[in-house]
Amino acid sequence: MNPTIEVSVPKEIIQMILEGAKTLHPKETIFLLRGKTHVDKITISEIVIPPSATYGKGFASLPMFMMPIDFSIIGTAHSHPSGSLALSVEDLNHALGKVLLLVAYPYDGIDSLAVYNRKGEKLKLRVT
Ligand SMILES: [Zn+2]
Repeated sequence: MNPTIEVSVPKEIIQMILEGAKTLHPKETIFLLRGKTHVDKITISEIVIPPSATYGKGFASLPMFMMPIDFSIIGTAHSHPSGSLALSVEDLNHALGKVLLLVAYPYDGIDSLAVYNRKGEKLKLRVT
């Protein structure tokens, strides 16, 4: 746990990620996250569907060359149909941005959610 950094995410965005994950289940879903980073706080303001959606192929297959050159992308959100709220080695190896938001089956609200930095340390999540 790295309690010094708080990630705030609007309720609507959480809802969209959970819905997206439910829709794609049992495949994996992925979104890009747009927002701002501050010294002790990361604020997510928007979710973006990756260009040339690679839904269902797993997080690791998201091709970097297809990423928008957009420095407001500060992280990703993806689902774990397995129900695990732990990051995999692939997740960390392919981490993009500063934040990895994870939703796990059964995608049931805040308990199905975890947020990490790219070192794999769990961050504090604040729903706004
Ligand atoms: Zn993963």
